[in-house]
Formats: sequence, structure tokens, C-alpha cells
Amino acid sequence: MAEIKITKDLLVPFVSKDETRPGLADVFRQHGYVIASDGHLLIRVPENMVDDLEQIPEQGLPNTDSVIPKELPWNKPITKDCLMKALDKAPKVEEKVRCEDCHGSGKVEWTYEAQNGHEYTDTFECPVCHGKGHHGVTGKLVPDPQQLYSLAGGAMNPECLYDLIRVMETFKVKKMSQRSSDNFKAMFTIGEVQILKTFVIIEGEDKPLLDEMINIR
Ligand SMILES: [Zn+2]
Repeated sequence: MAEIKITKDLLVPFVSKDETRPGLADVFRQHGYVIASDGHLLIRVPENMVDDLEQIPEQGLPNTDSVIPKELPWNKPITKDCLMKALDKAPKVEEKVRCEDCHGSGKVEWTYEAQNGHEYTDTFECPVCHGKGHHGVTGKLVPDPQQLYSLAGGAMNPECLYDLIRVMETFKVKKMSQRSSDNFKAMFTIGEVQILKTFVIIEGEDKPLLDEMINIR
């Protein structure tokens, strides 16, 4: 890894912006590591590599040890270049202006407070974007968000690939190592830094086979 200063600020962009996950809303320390995660991507940096430890609180939960694989049988390089090339190969669609009110889902939760004090909560069509999840297009072409890539024995979408590219750019490296994989996630490392990325869960009968996806090599 190039000589970079690792501080809390460097890791803040990787924390969760989802208010239903308060435990992941900030960078925290746990079991000798400094951790940032949004629930889909987790980064653990050994404490001795971080400059401003005193700024970062200890936190017991969620216990990140429980998701880190015990065995790391692989050591295969994966480069930023090969991820960029795979994104280039994907069919392109017009980029949409995501509705931030519903985070692109087209649905929001509303609560009704009744006369008797009871609260009723339900999910409704987002009134801001009328359930579309976006406000038109930006005019830019981007890799189809539905496109899947086969990586480390699982499926990833463009968002996952951009996450991994962002990690490499943050740590100023051009490659990292694929270390392990299970049904749900893959583990990567950049030196002592651990990166865990969840796969896209594909449901239904007609799920594509791994060899129908864009293969990252
Ligand atoms: Zn909306």
C-alpha cells in the first residue's frame, strides 16, 4: 500500500446512511480494528494503522468477528482495471436521477397516529416520485444496474463493483487480493486491511448461471 494517512475521515464515506441501522452510522473500534460498514461492504483496518484513534469510539455491536471468515484459502489478485473493463463490457442504460426520499425504491413508510394514541405504520407509494423511484434521467449512460458479474464465486452488480473500485481508490492501490468466498460474501485484503463484500442474492427459478454473467478475469 502506498504511504497514505489513514484517518477516521478516510473511512466515513463507507458508513451506513440508513437510519434503520444506527449501529453502522459511524466509524467505530472493536477488537483491535477500526471498522466502517454499511451492511453490504465492511472495511476493517488494524488500529495501529489509524492516526486519529482517539476520535473513534469503541463499540461492541454488531460483532464483526462473527462475519469474518476463519480461513483465507485464496490469494488471487483482482485489479481495478479488470473491474473497469467488466463495467465497460456491460450493456448500458440511461442513468436515472434517484429519488432520495425513497432511496430509489418507490416506497416510503408512513405512520398514522390515531385518536386513541395508537400508531399505525404501513408502506405506501412514494409521494415525491409517485412510486417511480427516480426523477427522470441524467442523460449519461451507465452499466445496466440489472447486469450481474461473476466474481469470487458469487454474483455482483455494478454497484458492488463500484464499491470495490472505491475501496482501491481510497487506499490508493491498483489491486487487492481475493481471499475467500462463501454463498453470501467474498473477502478481500489490501495488506492488513480486510474488506468484506456481500453478493447479490438472486431469487427465483430463472436465475442466471454464473457462466451467463460477465466474468471478471
Ligand atoms: Zn421516491
